[in-house]
Amino acid sequence: MKLLTFSTWCLALLGWAATTGSAADLKTRNVVLITTDGLRWQEVFQGADELLLSKEFGNVGNTNALRKEFWRATPEARREVLLPFLWGKVAQSGQLWGNRTKGSEVRVSNGRNFSYPGYNEFLTGYPDPKIDSNDKVLNANTNVFEWLNSKADFRGRVAAVVNWDVLPWILNAPRAGFPIWSGFEVPPGTQRLPVPEALTEMVEHGRTIWSGVLLDTFVGYAAKHALRELKPRALFVSYGETDDWAHEGQGERYLRSAHNFDRFLGDLWNRCQAQPEYRDSTTFVITTDHGRGPTPIAWKNHGREIAESSYMWLAVLGPDTPALGERSQTPLVKQAQVAATVAALLGEDFPRAFPQAASPVPGVIKP
Ligand SMILES: [Zn+2]
Repeated sequence: MKLLTFSTWCLALLGWAATTGSAADLKTRNVVLITTDGLRWQEVFQGADELLLSKEFGNVGNTNALRKEFWRATPEARREVLLPFLWGKVAQSGQLWGNRTKGSEVRVSNGRNFSYPGYNEFLTGYPDPKIDSNDKVLNANTNVFEWLNSKADFRGRVAAVVNWDVLPWILNAPRAGFPIWSGFEVPPGTQRLPVPEALTEMVEHGRTIWSGVLLDTFVGYAAKHALRELKPRALFVSYGETDDWAHEGQGERYLRSAHNFDRFLGDLWNRCQAQPEYRDSTTFVITTDHGRGPTPIAWKNHGREIAESSYMWLAVLGPDTPALGERSQTPLVKQAQVAATVAALLGEDFPRAFPQAASPVPGVIKP
């Protein structure tokens, strides 16, 4: 009996080591999960859609100038000019999933295709059918950052910088216990991430466009500050202008937000490489909360009634990820797999603690 228990335990351990690796075998010591709300897989893999560059469907003022910037003859050239970091550095040294034209699909599995269900799914590792609105309700589910912060190796080394006023509720900030910066009111009991007074003052006067979403530039500044001052081992950063400009039907601003997100990724990556705590030991996991409908009209929206908005994308760049570039003919990747992937890169087994959580994405970690 004792022997059986021991061998079962050994087998379980071997299986775990095969899928997640152990911290000792991994070069990754830090993970940054970076998202931009509602950026379509179509822009990621094909660059600017011609209809978004038009007056009629993208509400563009100077179409000639915008075409000069983002229109090219092939999807490959268009995506490179729109997202130079993703198609330069990440495509060369990391991996990208989600190009449906090449047999690679990444999908939301919550069936709702809007934000709270999506953030819950990738942060906690499973879709929760009880979540059916974007209301500020404290999430009952434990997210991977909260779980990491409960472990001795990570306690006090976890942080989040978020753009949307609902995210501290989705993260259940008071219970999660790690510092969060949002630029908005947070639920009582939240540990706030300190930022320079100048940023707080600018944000106070800078909430001029949307009532619950910040301009990405403030988020980028806070994220760089957090990296420099707090040196977290697990950091979540959420961008979001892509979603709001798309809802407004502003093609130019949607594309510029995507371009700016990519620039932020490159900037943050270079900063990591310049900091000894992060150099060659940091993995970026980059994704979104949902897709959107097709052009010419439905691209503005997403949700249960727009089936195409369940398709999304995922990119990973770091020292343990084989440089397979743009993936093709892959098994379906579920949004829910992101949480366990973040943990696995740090040598931790999230599904062992939360059996309902999806497993890490295969191929992210060198065998
Ligand atoms: Zn939206």
